[in-house]
Amino acid sequence: MESIIFIAPPAAGKGTQAALISKQYNIPSISTGDLLRACQNEDTPLSNLIKERLSKGMLVDDDIVLELVKNRIVKSDCDNGYILDGFPRNVAQAIAYDEMLKTLNKKLSHVILLELDKEEAKKRIVGRLSCPNCKSIYNDMFENMKPKEKGICDKCQNSLVKRSDDSAEVYDERYDIYLKETMPLIEFYENKNILYRVDSSNKDVAFNSICNILGENND
Ligand code: AMP
Repeated sequence: MESIIFIAPPAAGKGTQAALISKQYNIPSISTGDLLRACQNEDTPLSNLIKERLSKGMLVDDDIVLELVKNRIVKSDCDNGYILDGFPRNVAQAIAYDEMLKTLNKKLSHVILLELDKEEAKKRIVGRLSCPNCKSIYNDMFENMKPKEKGICDKCQNSLVKRSDDSAEVYDERYDIYLKETMPLIEFYENKNILYRVDSSNKDVAFNSICNILGENND
């Protein structure tokens, strides 16, 4: 295994599966959404631009995201492989990423497409909560995904937060962008014979399917 990309409609379980696979194969999971959210905290023109795009559910400019990805994947913890959760988001990013990999002498081995119906995914948005510390995901709308104590992470006791773009309105906008910008990636990677489709309606079944695709060993 070299590196993996996850493609999925918003709220289809991309972050959850990336975290599970990261643990199973002991490789880092890199979320461009998380990298961008971390950049929002300063008061610079770049940070303000990112903040605005994120709050509207719009994509951030390709060159900004490419720079963040490049700076992250050259770190030594990525030497034995890594997962990209949320990148590339359009064909221009995918082409630029191919070039980046050539320059860095790295390879893309699997592209996992998580498939989930729009309405099902939207339901997951409404109650979604995440832990800013350990990245665990919870959902107040589903009995089996609620934290034991309301608003508190089971694993590290940090306070859970709701993402500013997790509203029904912003979801529709993000889904439209997925259809228009990100779905063309399916054909792009199918043509390279590295695209694998996984039904994401059940978390555990999806995880097992991904492990079967990736194989037992991290090699
Ligand atoms: P995510 O956490 O992957 O759902 O991403 C949250 C938001 O971050 C998206 O709605 C975009 O505004 C932005 N974002 C994440 N990844 C990318 C990317 N590869 N290109 C452009 N914008 C991105």
